[in-house]
Amino acid sequence: MNYCSHCGTSVAQHIPEGDDRLRYICRACGRIYYQNPKMVVGCIPRWENKVLMCRRNIEPQKGKWTLPAGYLENGETVMQGACRETLEEAGAVVADLRPYLLFDIVHVNQIYLMFRARMQAPDFKATPESAEVVLMRQEEIPWDEIAFRAIESTLRHYFEDRASGRFPFRIQQIQKKSPLR
Ligand SMILES: [Zn+2]
Repeated sequence: MNYCSHCGTSVAQHIPEGDDRLRYICRACGRIYYQNPKMVVGCIPRWENKVLMCRRNIEPQKGKWTLPAGYLENGETVMQGACRETLEEAGAVVADLRPYLLFDIVHVNQIYLMFRARMQAPDFKATPESAEVVLMRQEEIPWDEIAFRAIESTLRHYFEDRASGRFPFRIQQIQKKSPLR
């Protein structure tokens, strides 16, 4: 950030007294701006033996496939956020949300929380955010065209767990890709 949103003066980075890391601090009014990870919430909408996939119509990763997910908004619970994103991106109403996977993605300061969910009805549609919305069987998942690693990992866990009928909650970390790979 460059300017204080309170008084408009430029900010500088300092370690505040009693703190242990750099913060943006206003040069004039002294306001400290704490920056913290953002939370992405989403779900695996299920209908019979299929899951609802969305082909992104927006950057980043336009044209790639994903599950409905997006940034949690102020004033909503994680479950409300996951339901809202599913309605916005896929036109689908989900219920029975069960927490399933949490991803720490430290290098981009994000946390993903993914739920399993049941679709209320096989109703869905393309939206401004999704060029196509499709119920897919496991064999139809376009593994080479998944938009985000957290989503690919979510799908892999889901189909693996589905085979055993047990869906334990997991916390996983997604590391920055090595430039050598
Ligand atoms: Zn200020």
